[in-house]
Amino acid sequence: MKLTIQRLFTLLIVAVAGCGSTEPDTTQIDNAVFVDTVTQTAMVLPVSDTVPAINPHTGKRTLMPALFCPDCQKWYPVPAPEQINRQPDAARCPRTETPLIADGPWPGEEAQPAGNGS
Ligand SMILES: [Zn+2]
Repeated sequence: MKLTIQRLFTLLIVAVAGCGSTEPDTTQIDNAVFVDTVTQTAMVLPVSDTVPAINPHTGKRTLMPALFCPDCQKWYPVPAPEQINRQPDAARCPRTETPLIADGPWPGEEAQPAGNGS
């Protein structure tokens, strides 16, 4: 089962990294979109070897790799690997059942967090 999980995230990372490969920019850090499973906030962070990844804002391991729903124009966290094993269609939008894709407008470019101070 571990191998399957590893493969899934490897595929995701490759898919996400692949969309930037049109530019031969080797200095680019391997970033990916993550969604905080608690706050549902999407953010771009360097690819992590371990998931859930640590949310730099909260210090908690709540970040899951995200996939984009072209219908909702929204990023959704990838379901837990156990869930995917049970239902192969887990990588679909929970609302519109659209197959989720790895390529979408990255968060942070349009939406800035409201300046509440900290
Ligand atoms: Zn959707």
